[in-house]
Amino acid sequence: MSKLPPKTFPVELSIVVPLLNEAESLPELTQWIQRVLLARGLSYEVILIDDGSTDDSWEVIEALAASDAALRGIRFNRNYGKSAALDTGFRATRGRVVCTMDADLQDSPEELPELYRLITEEKYDLISGWKKKRFDPLSKTIPTKLFNGVTRWISGIQLHDFNCGLKAYDSRVVKSIEVYGEMHRYIPVIAKWAGFRRIGEKVVQHQERKYGVTKFGLERFVYGFLDLLSITFVSRFRRRPMHFFGTMGVLAFFIGAIIALWLTGEKFWLSMHNLRARSVTDQPLFFFALVAVIVGVQLFLVGFLAEMVQLNGHREYLVREKLKIEN
Ligand code: UDP
Ligand code: MG
Repeated sequence: MSKLPPKTFPVELSIVVPLLNEAESLPELTQWIQRVLLARGLSYEVILIDDGSTDDSWEVIEALAASDAALRGIRFNRNYGKSAALDTGFRATRGRVVCTMDADLQDSPEELPELYRLITEEKYDLISGWKKKRFDPLSKTIPTKLFNGVTRWISGIQLHDFNCGLKAYDSRVVKSIEVYGEMHRYIPVIAKWAGFRRIGEKVVQHQERKYGVTKFGLERFVYGFLDLLSITFVSRFRRRPMHFFGTMGVLAFFIGAIIALWLTGEKFWLSMHNLRARSVTDQPLFFFALVAVIVGVQLFLVGFLAEMVQLNGHREYLVREKLKIEN
């Protein structure tokens, strides 16, 4: 997506709300958003993405939208997950600033004006909410601390609360990144890799869930960690997989080859001098060398294949601005 951002926007603020079975919360949420933003005189739109709800969330959205011009909706045919909902919502936004929030009333719309200000006036690319005081069970807050620590360490982004549903973006960010799988936890990481470096954080209010239940279990932490590994790997080596696999492969191959040569040389030397030698296959090092050589060749081949796959993918580079370039 090398498209440049538009110069004018139909609305100042787009609010993207992914939701799964949140019918009870929606009327309160949308009224609250309206109250806050009308008081500030901000023009806005709310994009509600029904991620395959099985309750009557969509009927509620239709009813609310009938009397509120700012409400827009997208309904998935089935549940695709929060990342898919956010990604689809991002594509539909028309605002200069885009905020995301959860539908369950745990995030407060009162934060929106300040988030908007941080993006427009302080020129941040992305502001992530930080639920400094959380109202969640311990079973969730403790693994969350660990998750955030690991993410900070691997990504080098100093945020306290990566997975906060309440975030604000310059529209350039959401129009140029792709959120897939369960990568919604790592949007700041994705944004950073795309070149958006002004990433900040704002302490936000957090409430207990008022209606319904959480949609994520503890497996989120296992998947979350694997996702972090793939996102780090992909962003670093997607365009040059051979650098990763090739390095490891060549290294393993040479270590194995040197050990094998050494063992062979030693064997010859000992027999030349009529000394009794162990048979080569009696030595653990021999098997280590064998495995290292085979693994090395395989890694190299994987790198080669990955390089060819990568050649077929289209290359796209994010253009920030153009000067006297029309095409
Ligand atoms: N959500 C969604 N699709 C899913 C799971 C969750 O759109 O597959 C929405 C959910 O309705 C809520 C937000 O994502 O608006 C955050 O989910 P939840 O409150 O369950 O997460 P938690 O606050 O427990 O982290
Ligand atoms: Mg929640």
